[in-house]
Amino acid sequence: MKYCHHCTALLVLRVPDGDDRERHCCDACNAIFYQNPKNVVGTVPVFEDQVLLCKRAIQPRIGKWTLPAGFMENGESSLEGAIRETREEAGASVTVQEDSLYTLFNLPGINQLYMFFRAELSNLDFSPGIESEAVALFHESEIPWGEIAFPVVKSTLEHYFRDLPKNHFPVRMFDVHHGDRRITTHLISHSHKSD
Ligand SMILES: [Zn+2]
Repeated sequence: MKYCHHCTALLVLRVPDGDDRERHCCDACNAIFYQNPKNVVGTVPVFEDQVLLCKRAIQPRIGKWTLPAGFMENGESSLEGAIRETREEAGASVTVQEDSLYTLFNLPGINQLYMFFRAELSNLDFSPGIESEAVALFHESEIPWGEIAFPVVKSTLEHYFRDLPKNHFPVRMFDVHHGDRRITTHLISHSHKSD
């Protein structure tokens, strides 16, 4: 960010009064521009004991498989965004239960928050959107584990197939640390059935 969006003056990176970190500040019109993490929302679309995956037609990780997910748009909820991404990337319509939130990943290293919701395919009418080159249903034994695009997707799928036999899907939150070319995932919340 270089120029003020309001008056086009050159921005200065400094700590504003009363703040504790550097922001892009405009000394011409006094605007302050805050940069905050982006939310990525998606679904685990299931049909019976199979999960729908999309083969990526775009970078990054072109040709790898992923769950449908993307950046939230202004004016929509996280769940609405996840359902929209599922429609756009997999051409699939889904229904969700009230307890659909499943995994939440904090990725402070890249300033992103990922949220995945469990969803059921309304029908088997799905087809790849422009960001996908293929869409297919996989049983657990058919999942291309070595070809999964993102660690957050792999982790979500691993937990899903572990939870599936128990038909119990606690919400899990993870902190993902981007170390030296490695990503480690830590489970930091695991709710239990209360009944
Ligand atoms: Zn300005």
